[in-house]
Amino acid sequence: MKRTFCTCVRRRIVWLELGKSLGGSQRQISILVNRNYKASLDLNLPALDRKWRLRWERQRLQRALRRFSPLWTLKEPEERESREKMYILPMFPYPSGDLHLGHLRVYTISDVLARFRRMQGYDVMHPIGWDAFGLPAENAAIERGIDPATWTKQNIKKMKSQLQAMNGFWDWDREFATCDPSFYKHTQRLFLLLHKAGFVYQAESVVNYDPVDKTVLANEQVDVNGFSWRSGIKVEQRMLKQWFLRISEFRQELLDGLKDLSKDGAWPERVLAMQKNWIGKSSGARIKFPVVAYDQQTHSDIEVFTTRPDTLFGVQYVALASTHPIVQGLAKTDAELQAFLDTIPALPPDSKVGYILPHVRALNPLAYEASTPDATKASLPIYVAPYVLDDYGDGAVMGVPGHDIRDHSFWKHNRHHDPVRVVISQSPDEATTALSNEPFVNHGHLTEHSGPYAGQTTAEATTKIVALLESKGFGSKAETWRLRDWLISRQRYWGTPIPIIHCDECGPVPVPEDQLPVELPPVEGHWGEGKAGNPLDHAHSWVNTSCPSCGGAAKRDTDTLDTFVDSSWYFMRFPDSKNEEAPFSPEAANASLPVDLYIGGVEHAILHLLYARFISKFVATTPLWPNGRKFAGEPFKQVLTQGMVHGKTYTDPASGRFLKSEEVDLTDPTNPVVITSGERPNISYEKMSKSKYNGVDPGICMAKYGADVTRAHILFQAPVSEVLEWDEEKIAGITRWLRRLYDFIQQNQKDWGPITSMMGGMPKSRFIATQEVMEGLERGMKLPNMRAARPRRDGKGFVDVTGRMKENQLKCFEEDKKLWRAVQSTIKNVTESYSKTYSLNTIVSDLMALTNALIDHGNFAIKDAEAQDWRTDKFFTYHATLELLKMMAPMTPAFAEECWYLASPFRPGTLTVTLANIVNRIRPRTLVYPENDQRGKSIFDQPFPTTDGTFEMLAPSTQTCAVQVNGRLRLVVEIPAAPADLKGEELEKWVVDKIVATEEGKQRLLGGQEKGNHVPDIKKAKKVIIVKGGKTVNFVV
Ligand SMILES: [Zn+2]
Repeated sequence: MKRTFCTCVRRRIVWLELGKSLGGSQRQISILVNRNYKASLDLNLPALDRKWRLRWERQRLQRALRRFSPLWTLKEPEERESREKMYILPMFPYPSGDLHLGHLRVYTISDVLARFRRMQGYDVMHPIGWDAFGLPAENAAIERGIDPATWTKQNIKKMKSQLQAMNGFWDWDREFATCDPSFYKHTQRLFLLLHKAGFVYQAESVVNYDPVDKTVLANEQVDVNGFSWRSGIKVEQRMLKQWFLRISEFRQELLDGLKDLSKDGAWPERVLAMQKNWIGKSSGARIKFPVVAYDQQTHSDIEVFTTRPDTLFGVQYVALASTHPIVQGLAKTDAELQAFLDTIPALPPDSKVGYILPHVRALNPLAYEASTPDATKASLPIYVAPYVLDDYGDGAVMGVPGHDIRDHSFWKHNRHHDPVRVVISQSPDEATTALSNEPFVNHGHLTEHSGPYAGQTTAEATTKIVALLESKGFGSKAETWRLRDWLISRQRYWGTPIPIIHCDECGPVPVPEDQLPVELPPVEGHWGEGKAGNPLDHAHSWVNTSCPSCGGAAKRDTDTLDTFVDSSWYFMRFPDSKNEEAPFSPEAANASLPVDLYIGGVEHAILHLLYARFISKFVATTPLWPNGRKFAGEPFKQVLTQGMVHGKTYTDPASGRFLKSEEVDLTDPTNPVVITSGERPNISYEKMSKSKYNGVDPGICMAKYGADVTRAHILFQAPVSEVLEWDEEKIAGITRWLRRLYDFIQQNQKDWGPITSMMGGMPKSRFIATQEVMEGLERGMKLPNMRAARPRRDGKGFVDVTGRMKENQLKCFEEDKKLWRAVQSTIKNVTESYSKTYSLNTIVSDLMALTNALIDHGNFAIKDAEAQDWRTDKFFTYHATLELLKMMAPMTPAFAEECWYLASPFRPGTLTVTLANIVNRIRPRTLVYPENDQRGKSIFDQPFPTTDGTFEMLAPSTQTCAVQVNGRLRLVVEIPAAPADLKGEELEKWVVDKIVATEEGKQRLLGGQEKGNHVPDIKKAKKVIIVKGGKTVNFVV
């Protein structure tokens, strides 16, 4: 770090010399110096980052060496004693190659919380790895003609250095990438474990197929018109045999688990609601609609599931999904139908179009009842409608336009001339029948259209109608789940190969354990030549193998696993990441699982968290995680979701076009100007994207302002779970805060060593001692003469200050109390925010406020030079500074470490710890350290501050009291704080006495005249009302 030895420092030296010659006290001199002091020492924050990162890395290596040392005494104390474990994990990144601000946000939050817990004494595991399989690498490989493995490794290297630049404290020893064979070997093991337990099966399923590239496309690779993102060709829907995981077997457990996760806000409400909705349990009835065909064909009944059997009289059509067997059957001979089906992939999900099936009609099962009204007896049209999803229910719905929103809009779109039948109304007399243009979706009473059920409530009618259907064989009570089984096979290269061998004789055979991992074969030619299709299909020497069961010729499965499979268990690997024999040992799992705190974006609220819960619940049923059942197999005790980061976006007010940064003149940041037009651009905050030119490179930001400032800014700008609007101009506030504190420490640190070693003790004992002296003076105790005599300011002789002593001492004492009380309340609030509410933005503001209190306390000496001789301020600023730095350390690690180094009287680096220990042992008085000295130790070896119990004791000795007479404010006086044990009449009397003892109280509250007006006499008040222990007092006279 560079120090500029400027005029101010030189002036300080001159003053010190001058002070000596004048014979004044050092303190007086330093006051003069302080008055002239300006921030002059160069604080280079990015340089601090580099300096401390290097030292931390060295410390880490030394520690690692000591861990293996046979000498027990060389081990760190924390390695000798067993501390409580805590596992804090941020969702691991996909190695896209660039760390973006969203990453930086989540990793900052996670690092801050991990560092905090470490300082609290926990044995924290804070690992990181790479979610390294997936489509982007394969796309990049196709575009650039390079192996996805090469591309991925480059990206990991780059992102790792970016992550290291953020001053994060990561367990790099545990790092892995899911694309390493040493990792995916165990993903394959887990697959086989699931297979053995019967949770894996193969079934036909519809996929998006690109006939040119001969590849299966993910939904996001198909544009809104149904064309392939790359080949531009119309995407086909094909049935393909795929692998599934039977997640549905766990649906009840997955649903039940949500109850426990909602306790004490452990998981965000929103995430729980989304999971519950995704699992989607609903109860109702399964109802059969017979099909009548007019062309001699026969069709089986259409089965639908409905949550509203009470609306059965209002069914006006039946709609089928394109995959329904009746539709698929008819399409073989109906070209027009087939043409319609071909358009479906291109339709938006809320499309209202429908295709009416000719020659077939459905019958309402109630049509067979004599009492059913004629309208319900009529046969029903059958539509094919894209809004009916094959993954919900049975790919068929009963259309009730009167009482369902989607059915209503479908009906209006396709049959707008036909009336909507209303079979439910709010009240039994139908006086409040729903509006004609909207369906009535609530429960209510059945109308006259429901025949014998008219007037009955939804609940009554539901029971009776379902009972009737059951008796006639047309239906039964049922429940459905929205959750489908998990399709895990991908017809792509860059994923974990599915460890299955297909044999004509034996069928699908699992690859034996000792042959794992099934490694991805290199297919360089494929990327270089830009071939179409899944390269594994053409890796003949890899595909063709022998059957592990019969030894005959067989073929490997060419599908790879969905990357969600990798991320559904990676967190279990970290505790035992080097284990070659098993995914992890039962001991490691018992010791570290579940994860105590899991942090990530809310976009993973459903799938990732649900899949991870499923796999974890499965693992808890195996010997892999013996204690898993205790936690119901839940993998994450607590989840914290962070909001997105939005970038400042400039648009041209005339054209609405997004503006690049070089198109806006930002010389005056408060008044940006569009360079070409001279107009003020529109400013908004939007999701960062290349097309909006609003992206921010966190690497540049950290290099410019320092990682600590960037971290604190991220935390300060928004609560963790809310959107962060990134405004770089506001970062200056953080820099200013750190500079002020740094300067304060620079100014004071020279005094701290001698003073703290002279005074000794901790602030609490100091207060008790001072309190005793104060009370002694109160009783008339005489102080020793030598303390009552002070050198004159001009250096000529001494003045007797006995008379002024008490007053000034009291003044100083109040200032010290104020500061230490601020320290105590900050410790309390900040600890709560770090550990319970995760309100990290308020921590920054609390610490800024404490910094101000600290600096104000320092300035008090300047304002009241007379009082300073009795002061203990340096002692308190020293201790307050140390507490402040420890509270800041998790957020601004390098800065706090540097300041800790500056503030500690012992300078690590000048002597090694060992040498210092030896010197101390031989000549214990040579080195004088303040009590609780932490010679040469990192701030991160300090325990996080705890309150010392002085907060109550340090209550200010006076309080402001608003005096009201007959409800109107008359005056505000400063009175002593009421003793805590006073209550009722005693308190009343005490407060009144103190009020009238004040000068203002005497004049304006004890009767007589004031400027010709009558003055009330509160001593004669009829009633006295005391609010908040005397903060407000109302006299009724
Ligand atoms: Zn075989």
